[in-house]
Amino acid sequence: MRKICIVGTGYVGLVTGACLAHLGNQVTCLDIDLEKIAQLCTGHVPFYEPGLEPLVRRQMEAGRLQFTTSYAEAVDGSQFIFVAVPTPSIVGEAGVDMRYVESAVHSVAQHLDHSAILINKSTMPVGSGDLVSAILKEHVPQPDLVVQVVANPEFLREGSAVQDFLMPDRVVLGSGQRSAVLQVAELYAPLCAPLVITDLYTAEMIKYASNAFLAAKISFINEIARICEVLGADVRQVATGMGYDKRIGRDFLDAGLGYGGSCFGKDVRALAHMAAEAGLHPQLLEAVMAINTDQRRLVVSKLEKELGDLADKHIAILGLAFKSNTDDMRDAPSIDIIRWLVRAGAHARAYDPVADETAREAMPDVAVTYCADCYHAVQDCDAVVVVTDWREFRDLDLRRLRGAMRTPVLVDGRNLFDPAEMTRLGFRYCGIGRPDGGRYPTSSRDQRRMHDEEAASAWRWPAPETISAPR
Ligand code: NAD
Repeated sequence: MRKICIVGTGYVGLVTGACLAHLGNQVTCLDIDLEKIAQLCTGHVPFYEPGLEPLVRRQMEAGRLQFTTSYAEAVDGSQFIFVAVPTPSIVGEAGVDMRYVESAVHSVAQHLDHSAILINKSTMPVGSGDLVSAILKEHVPQPDLVVQVVANPEFLREGSAVQDFLMPDRVVLGSGQRSAVLQVAELYAPLCAPLVITDLYTAEMIKYASNAFLAAKISFINEIARICEVLGADVRQVATGMGYDKRIGRDFLDAGLGYGGSCFGKDVRALAHMAAEAGLHPQLLEAVMAINTDQRRLVVSKLEKELGDLADKHIAILGLAFKSNTDDMRDAPSIDIIRWLVRAGAHARAYDPVADETAREAMPDVAVTYCADCYHAVQDCDAVVVVTDWREFRDLDLRRLRGAMRTPVLVDGRNLFDPAEMTRLGFRYCGIGRPDGGRYPTSSRDQRRMHDEEAASAWRWPAPETISAPR
């Protein structure tokens, strides 16, 4: 049985540790957060990730997974040491804060008394593998110890992290030391995933390029959405029509409030920063970031268009987490939107199925009324904004929702609802990238100008699914 140590027991570290234990390895997960480790020792996962807690408990019961705050205990005898600590942006800057990595690697080095392979799972700027090697070389107590470094970027998505880890599209391994790469590849062999074996720098770059591409796809469709809105096309159907093209694909073509979360924002920023530092002008990356920020502002302008001055208006926010199936609030669009609304003098009420607690931590200084459910959140509100695409929002009793509101303005930031149906139910519906905000019939420019309810309710929005694939 291989002995593995995971340094940093967050989303990536815990999923990696639990899954590697599931694959039959002996895993010790380490963290400097005492409370987190205390909770994990009792079998409780301190964040929301579907399927993770039962997996963790099963591996603990099988004796393959344990938790500690002691480097001495975690590093002892481990052949493989994964580093999965945060690599956030430096506060107020675009560069990456490498202090967590430096500190973690330093601590590992001090406790090593045997040769091992150190695997960088954290997303690190291109060239960081060399930095890690240099720290190890300087701080290992015995100069003859061999510690090989492998870059193994992680591509899991929060919300489906366990499945993503166990069924990856590919495993990327980068190192100058082939024997180390082959040993790490053995760990992943049961997953039968395509292996990309390359050098350190290229592996590090693959991670940034992948995240930047996905972020660009999101900003691209959001720009198309804006054009659709003024020209009278429906971005959802545009995405369907585009997505059938295998060269394009349908994934990441949902127009909405843009990307958020712990990775896309900081990674695009970091890549642009690396490029600029190297004397390049990363124009596309800059546009991707600017479009994403604008997309969040769109909510406020749509509300202002409907309600005028937002001072003293009561606005309900449905969904706080940066996406569904997680309680992660890092760089969640809801934070910017709520802050802007409150700054404009509005009163914010909010509901999220799981992210109340993390939202309070993320916005301790903002007056938000946290509600027990959607209906409670919209009670007597002037408008409601759907910010996160939680499944339960699709199944809402919309008549009841409408009945609870003072003014029936609904900004659908994730295009969850059918505009015609919403209009029929009496909502003033504003989608993203739908003609006139999705509120009026739009088969021609003339129709777009029709503002009477009767015409709107007589019209039926064709469901995108009715578009059949070209033969
Ligand atoms: P996280 O904040 O959830 O977890 C990091 C953990 O590291 C925390 O529990 C923290 O207490 C611990 N830590 C910090 N310094 C430490 C130290 N010196 N020693 C031991 N533990 C320490 O972060 P995360 O979301 O798991 O991200 C980790 C890395 O993985 C980042 O580089 C991120 O960019 C990358 N990544 C994240 C995701 C994701 O979806 N979250 C996906 C792919 C890659």
